[in-house]
Amino acid sequence: MINKLYFHHVSFMFFRIFFFNMTGSLKENRRLIIEDISNGLEKFPISLIYDDIKEFEELQNIFHKYVVNCVTVPGADSSSYYDGCDCKDDCKSEDCGCKSIHGFFYISRGLNPIFLQSNSIASNISIYECNSNCSCSPDKCPNRLVQHGVSLPLQIFKSDSGCGWGVRSHTRRIRKGEFVCEYAGEIIKTDEAKHRWIMAKEINEDNYILCLREHVKDRVLRTNIDPIHIGNIGRFINHSCDPNLQIFLTRINSLIPTAALFAKKDIGVNEELSFDYAGGVNDNSDIQEININVERKKCLCGSQYCKGFLPFDLSL
Ligand SMILES: [Zn+2]
Ligand SMILES: [Zn+2]
Ligand SMILES: [Zn+2]
Repeated sequence: MINKLYFHHVSFMFFRIFFFNMTGSLKENRRLIIEDISNGLEKFPISLIYDDIKEFEELQNIFHKYVVNCVTVPGADSSSYYDGCDCKDDCKSEDCGCKSIHGFFYISRGLNPIFLQSNSIASNISIYECNSNCSCSPDKCPNRLVQHGVSLPLQIFKSDSGCGWGVRSHTRRIRKGEFVCEYAGEIIKTDEAKHRWIMAKEINEDNYILCLREHVKDRVLRTNIDPIHIGNIGRFINHSCDPNLQIFLTRINSLIPTAALFAKKDIGVNEELSFDYAGGVNDNSDIQEININVERKKCLCGSQYCKGFLPFDLSL
């Protein structure tokens, strides 16, 4: 275990760091830029900008490895769980088997705005994209979006809100409905999620575990994603009670859903990105199993709809 962590730590050191002196209002600050914290894993580089080397070192001590998608059990079957369509027109017609079975959610390379009024988790919507069993072309099929990954100039920066790191799109606007990124990390069992939650609390460390719940008949399917040590850009996005992103569960090849973040509204250049950690659902039942006297973390989102505290869902 120690060797593994050491290896990741070392690999982090290879990031190219650029120093440049800002002119104007920031003239005293020597800002540093990591050109791409994904080290080439994302098609678009994910830059990170900071002023204080200590803050970056603290991050390096916690965040060991960048991954593009969730990490599941080693050796998991990578072939699709789902049947594919046999479209000859790259899924342009309504006869597409995938569309007719699962519905079609996208319009002009983004989420159809009618779905942005609902909450995917609360209303149990899951997007199904064309998968590895489909006959369509991955580049031309309109039913493939999340699987192509980040296609925005996303940047990690020190947020003014007091929430630590934050994420923004630093050279272009984001259109309403556009796919931003997924929330990737280790997929862990609920017992392990509870264990990590308690451990983090003991050492006073933040935790980022996202618990997705889907109600299927009388059962609750639960997916726990922990990006604290192994994760992607999604782990740096802060919570807001009035967010500009929304989570939709998306399935591509796997039964395990991807937590895909889409823009809820048009978002300006350098505007901080946020989503509701509870996905709009208030379900505290699991927390009560662990510790009723949970100390809740103050929410710093600053919105007029602020509920005062971070939701419990992520704190598990
Ligand atoms: Zn099709
Ligand atoms: Zn298909
Ligand atoms: Zn298709």
